[in-house]
Amino acid sequence: MPTDTLPNPEKSPERSSGELIRLEQVTKRFGDNTVLDHLDFSVDAGKHVTLIGPSGSGKTTILRLLMTLLKPDEGTITVDGQKLFPATEKERREVRKQIGMVFQQFNLFPNMSVLRNITEAPVTVLGMPKDEAVERAKGLLDMVGLADKCDARPAQLSGGQQQRVAIARALAMRPKVLLLDEVTSALDPELVAGVLDLLRDIARSTDITMLCVTHEMNFARDISDQVLMFDSGRVIEAGAPEKIFSEPEHDRTREFLSAVL
Ligand code: ADP
Repeated sequence: MPTDTLPNPEKSPERSSGELIRLEQVTKRFGDNTVLDHLDFSVDAGKHVTLIGPSGSGKTTILRLLMTLLKPDEGTITVDGQKLFPATEKERREVRKQIGMVFQQFNLFPNMSVLRNITEAPVTVLGMPKDEAVERAKGLLDMVGLADKCDARPAQLSGGQQQRVAIARALAMRPKVLLLDEVTSALDPELVAGVLDLLRDIARSTDITMLCVTHEMNFARDISDQVLMFDSGRVIEAGAPEKIFSEPEHDRTREFLSAVL
């Protein structure tokens, strides 16, 4: 991977460590359904944390809260010491710039070229000069193996290619945090490995903090510094991947892993 196209913050010894994301006593309800129940957890800068657990246990809701697509009913969320909830819309917008997300369904802008999909937010949200945004987008497209697709529309690409564009689009904002929500679930099986390899490369070669929801347990084992096992809106077990996958303590974790592995 060419190092000049890597997202900031690049891997460097000076990079700040310490806590980047903190959720405290976060509760989220949809009607009578309490999806997250006084949830506490934090993620240190530069770490790769994977959320696993049964469908409906609240994993995606956490990513959507961090993306400010949802608001918690109670609790506080901070990113890099800045408040995301509770906060004013202005404060939230500032924090939000530091967070990139890749969705299961790609969510590219269908009427824009691949290049424009990537340059749009840096220009309109960050105020990056257009030339610089274009140059950077081309570097990122090169990095994800799609240098020749600048002018294509999303519909002309395979699912795997669209997901690579979505990854490049998220990185173009130079986020401190990358949220990955089951990014290979909508892909044809033969396209999954390529996208996961790209994410492994990004995880290895940058200091970007990653929070992933995935059903790909081998990928989780490879890239994670920490795995959080969710059940009914709570973290029931957390630890290094070797521990969670090889010596889970909780019956629920054992049951879940034996069903998916
Ligand atoms: P997971 O990612 O672990 O599969 P989710 O966070 O997607 O779980 O969902 C947790 C629970 O919240 C589920 O019961 C789901 O039906 C419910 N839920 C999620 N989003 C909404 C919504 N927008 N409206 C109502 N219920 C929702």
